[in-house]
Amino acid sequence: MINRSLFEDTKTAFTLKSDSELDRAYFLFKMISSAPLVRIGTVATNFALKAHLPVEKLIRATVFDHFCGGVNEDDCLPVIDRLYTEGVSSVLDYSVEGKAEENQFDNALEKILKIIHFCDDREAMPIVVFKPTGFGRFLLYQKKTEGVALTEEEEAEWQRVVNRFDKVCKLAKEKDVEVLIDGEESWMQDAADDLVEEMMFRYNKDVTIVYNTLQLYRWDRLDYLKSLHERAKSKGFKIGMKIVRGAYMEKERERALEKGYDSPICENKKATDDNFDGALNYILQNLKDISVFIGTHNELSCYLAMELMKTHHISKEDNNVWFGQLYGMSDHISFNLAAEGYNVAKYIPFGPVKDVMPYLIRRAEENTSVAGQTSRELSLLKSERRRRKL
Ligand SMILES: Cc1cc2nc3c(=O)[nH]c(=O)nc-3n(C[C@H](O)[C@H](O)[C@H](O)COP(=O)(O)OP(=O)(O)OC[C@H]3O[C@@H](n4cnc5c(N)ncnc54)[C@H](O)[C@@H]3O)c2cc1C
Repeated sequence: MINRSLFEDTKTAFTLKSDSELDRAYFLFKMISSAPLVRIGTVATNFALKAHLPVEKLIRATVFDHFCGGVNEDDCLPVIDRLYTEGVSSVLDYSVEGKAEENQFDNALEKILKIIHFCDDREAMPIVVFKPTGFGRFLLYQKKTEGVALTEEEEAEWQRVVNRFDKVCKLAKEKDVEVLIDGEESWMQDAADDLVEEMMFRYNKDVTIVYNTLQLYRWDRLDYLKSLHERAKSKGFKIGMKIVRGAYMEKERERALEKGYDSPICENKKATDDNFDGALNYILQNLKDISVFIGTHNELSCYLAMELMKTHHISKEDNNVWFGQLYGMSDHISFNLAAEGYNVAKYIPFGPVKDVMPYLIRRAEENTSVAGQTSRELSLLKSERRRRKL
């Protein structure tokens, strides 16, 4: 039996937080637990940044420093080193989103290549991550996903996207760094999936370097995984898969309704949870072919993964199984799993303050809408403050 009260250990969870950091975290989660406050804060912050009002300092001292490692990769180093003292690895996440120009895609490429070099001599950084739309236009992925013929110019543009993926995966293979590729909106995802599969075919021959993302709020994903598994076996490559529930649920449902097609999202939370557990089960039964990065803040999913690992005699430090949480969230999961000897990594977002605002706003909104999670964070922070006072 695994210890099902593991995540109640707040001493281990917050071991790196000073009393004042603990207070700041409590204050922050208290603020973002209020939906109206988040709405007002979002509008006011966007306005202030556009109007060049001097709010950066305030943002940095509050949400930014809690959820991000810094404005550049060097800034993140102290955070990375600190986490690693407790056995938690880091995945630097260049969180600049919504760009659409070639030079911006090239900049993002240079950034990731630099991070891979950065990882080269740092044990604390075994993994990198990027978003497909960080390397190419959303509408280009969408056109390919919809099967619309590309113009000659677009074909050349797509080839540049392929080359960017290839450069990252090739260097990662050389340096033995794993690459996670994020999952995005369903109406552009097929093109990304095909491209990532091609990268797995090229670079996952004997060990897993390239990981795609399976968003299990989509009801079709388990079948997709099974068919990918068949192709991988017949062509002789390994699968890397980050499994998550998915971050774009409202957007997905709204679009399906507006355009009149069946929603790609599971009909309710329970169906998503069952789908997630199903994927976890399938992967852990097939670990010789599929490596997994379990990206979740859901405690039951983590306990289930621990239990299944035990059932299938998978050792805690097996490099084919990683747990991942976002920096600034669910430390009770990350630090307790790491203390037990599991492989754990935090996604550490970084970038200029105004560029990471969409990421920060998503975190704030997510914590508002997933009310249960915020109250869980608050109650854990409260217990730890109480424990320290005693
Ligand atoms: C390390 C890491 C990497 C990530 N990478 C990605 C990524 O590449 N792409 C991406 O999209 N997301 C990504 N995410 C975000 C992830 O999808 C969200 O954190 C996740 O949705 C929150 O779910 P949870 O597993 O933590 O658990 P929970 O809090 O238990 O689940 C909440 C999720 O369940 C689903 N859900 C909620 N209500 C319903 C409903 N009524 N019907 C159906 N489903 C419902 C939604 O997906 C919702 O977000 C990542 C998260 C982590 C921690």
